[in-house]
Amino acid sequence: MSLQERDKKHLWHPLTQHKLHPNHLAITKAKGAVLYDDKGNEYIDGIASWYTCMYGHSNDYIIEKIHEQMLQLDHVVFAGFTHEPAIKLSERLIKILPENQNKLFFSDNGSTSVDVAIKMALQYHFNRGEKRSKIIALEGGFHGDTFGAMSVSGLSIYNGPFEEFFIDVARIPVPTKSNFEIVKQQLSELLSTENVAAFIYEPLVQGAAAMKMYDASLLNELISIIKQHHVLAIADEVMTGFGKTGKHFASEHLTEQPDIICLAKSLTGGMVPMAITSCSQKIYEAFLSDDISKGFFHGHTYSANPIACTAALAGIELLESKEFQDNISRISASHQAFDNHIKNHPKVAETRQLGVIYALDLNIEMDRYGDLRNKLFKFFMNNGVCLRPLGNTIYILAPYVITNTQLEKVYRSIEDALEII
Ligand SMILES: *Cc1c(COP(=O)(O)O)cnc(C)c1O
Repeated sequence: MSLQERDKKHLWHPLTQHKLHPNHLAITKAKGAVLYDDKGNEYIDGIASWYTCMYGHSNDYIIEKIHEQMLQLDHVVFAGFTHEPAIKLSERLIKILPENQNKLFFSDNGSTSVDVAIKMALQYHFNRGEKRSKIIALEGGFHGDTFGAMSVSGLSIYNGPFEEFFIDVARIPVPTKSNFEIVKQQLSELLSTENVAAFIYEPLVQGAAAMKMYDASLLNELISIIKQHHVLAIADEVMTGFGKTGKHFASEHLTEQPDIICLAKSLTGGMVPMAITSCSQKIYEAFLSDDISKGFFHGHTYSANPIACTAALAGIELLESKEFQDNISRISASHQAFDNHIKNHPKVAETRQLGVIYALDLNIEMDRYGDLRNKLFKFFMNNGVCLRPLGNTIYILAPYVITNTQLEKVYRSIEDALEII
């Protein structure tokens, strides 16, 4: 029996209606920017497996480092114990995070990093004797699938069974030059009538909303307004972190710094799951007390797993290297050249780019999981390119190691796709 047939027996895949989509492609190997299937076909990973493997699949340097670590220390409880991989990672990461960030809290994935951020924000106010329960989020945002993260997400159209259990959230539109006065007014009204604890946002790029981009100056102003009301700013950098926007973190494009930052996805270069919620000293100090109950009683079994910390440390070393910074500049410039070539195509409605993130909207209406979208996806796969259109948006977010020849192949397959739809 093929892997695909054996898969059907006991496995339940994420975000999948199995009755409509029973088949899953079996991948047997991945290296650099390429995925290999069980029939010997190759696919350029144009989305870095959901923006995780940014330093290239099965990166030799990360493998070497985690192998050494596996021989030394696999895991130890992080409550009451510490270890060098976590310490080294903290020293290195704090150096590159926005200046005010000073403490790291570990968890397992993007959703838990967001849940931790929300709980931190709620308890921050609680510990200071204020009851603030409302979180403000941006419409169309995506922050994950656990309860807290799902509550603040504005995208999920399949949340029906859970909505009545959500935490208290108000949503404001993503700011644009034309709606900005209205957005500011809505925000001010919320701030003056509700007990708002925090404002959560994906800085500059809403990933799951099909790489929707918005201006740093507008976000900056919103953050400065909420700060006047002692509302905490939570930057969800799960997608944007680690070089994708051309800077190490999207928050560096702003002058207003977040109080809390969520990190996951390419934190470990896709090698193992891990997430971090970082915060400023101000947040941390609100939990310091002789009263034990003011501590942050949240913890995951695999918190700061030494192997994951080692992978993250190796990833940051790569990110900071000249080789990878050059790659980021090369890919950004290449996307720009492709954009000049494609943006006036009659089937292209709009294009946008920030760093190595490139997105193109087709001027054809398409359902997020509809037939036309599926046809496009199949077309790309048959051409040896893994691109997963989100509705009528085709986006590229490839590993930094993608070669110019591979990039050309991705661009060509997008051009060819415009001819078949
Ligand atoms: C993917 C994503 C999450 C959720 O991360 P998981 O690891 O899938 O739980 C949260 N926020 C953003 C911005 C994301 O892109």
